[in-house]
Amino acid sequence: MDFRLSSDEEAFREEVVSFLTQELSEDVRLEYEERGLPGPLYHAFLHKLGHRGWLTLTWPEEHGGLGRPPMYRFIMAEEMAKRGVEYRNVAESIVAPSLMLCGSPQQKERFLPLIASGEVVFTLLYSEPHAGSDLASLELRSSPEGDGFTLSGQKLFSSEADMAHYAWVASRTDPDVPKHRGISLFLVDMKTPGITVHPLISMAGDRRFNEVFLDNARVGRDALIGEENRGWYYVAAALDFERATAGAAMFIGNATYLVSRMIDYVNNNPWVLHSRPGLRSEISKRATELEVLRVLSYQVLSLMAGGHAPTYQASMVKLFGSELTQRLSGTAGAALGLYSQLGRASHRAPYEGELGLFYMRAVSDSIRGGTSEIQRNIIAIRGLGLTTQ
Ligand SMILES: Cc1cc2nc3c(=O)[nH]c(=O)nc-3n(C[C@H](O)[C@H](O)[C@H](O)COP(=O)(O)OP(=O)(O)OC[C@H]3O[C@@H](n4cnc5c(N)ncnc54)[C@H](O)[C@@H]3O)c2cc1C
Repeated sequence: MDFRLSSDEEAFREEVVSFLTQELSEDVRLEYEERGLPGPLYHAFLHKLGHRGWLTLTWPEEHGGLGRPPMYRFIMAEEMAKRGVEYRNVAESIVAPSLMLCGSPQQKERFLPLIASGEVVFTLLYSEPHAGSDLASLELRSSPEGDGFTLSGQKLFSSEADMAHYAWVASRTDPDVPKHRGISLFLVDMKTPGITVHPLISMAGDRRFNEVFLDNARVGRDALIGEENRGWYYVAAALDFERATAGAAMFIGNATYLVSRMIDYVNNNPWVLHSRPGLRSEISKRATELEVLRVLSYQVLSLMAGGHAPTYQASMVKLFGSELTQRLSGTAGAALGLYSQLGRASHRAPYEGELGLFYMRAVSDSIRGGTSEIQRNIIAIRGLGLTTQ
């Protein structure tokens, strides 16, 4: 089997590398490292990607995209993560494919160009205090009122809600049917009266997410996405898509970044390998696992390129990728020893303290986007056909 990229894909990678070398400034990387999420500089950088048509690489031509296979998007996201900046763009990765699938002509006409140019920031309002893994239990209620709906309830862990222009909201429209069948999706302007956003600070000290309260927030019928009460199915399809492409590339890029940092550190501090028996073999093990992750990701990309929707295969990538990031940041911690605990404020902190931040943030990788236990359930049930009883 030949795992090399095609000559076109290789040429695209070179183009991406030369673009990132020029445009992905150290300021963007530092902003991302500090926030752990996109900030204003990052959003300005997304504009540049949009300007080149790289936010629409895989979109069909009928929607103004370049119609390239998913590998191209993967290459771009991987190269970004390799430079310490993950590709995160809920608008392009979750909202746009869902709009193409089930949006009205007016919604597509209005929002797809804004997303393509990188002008809009979306937040994903799915999780709630009593609905995370079991998302179908969500309680945020949408009640019909006049020619629209009012939305009331609370969302939790909403990344980028403080910066978002719009929210992609999963809400209960029918409480009297089995729970999966009573959920609808809405596209809501964050300036709608009745919406308030409160910060939640993560253990790394950053505002990784927020609580969002909706108090009789009124939206028109044109905010409903697709058919009423079919929201659950749209949500599931979009999550698989995200796990399979940008998610996979992000894990590979991050892992490549960490491995190269570790090699750099031990080569510049040769006493480390002598004083920590086992570290040499541990680093080699992580580098091998990185290649396993790459093969799992390529399998998913080839499924998608063949027009198949990855399900349990996307979960395998999410599970392996997130847990590899955690193992890797642990190995990096072992390599740096107590120095890994120093923050940027200390002049002794290797790499300005970024590995310590990585370690703390990696904890959430096996939670966000579906926990490891949930991924294992999907692999067991959908992949292996094991009974749910
Ligand atoms: C950094 C970060 C960013 C996030 N961003 C967003 C966002 O932008 N928008 C959004 O809507 N949400 C977001 N989330 C929320 C995330 O999707 C949820 O945290 C996640 O789905 C888990 O839900 P929970 O926290 O309610 O945990 P729970 O579902 O309560 O799970 C608690 C524990 O029980 C286990 N468990 C639950 N059910 C099962 C089961 N059936 N079998 C075996 N074990 C089980 C879980 O694996 C976990 O270990 C984010 C989370 C993090 C950490």
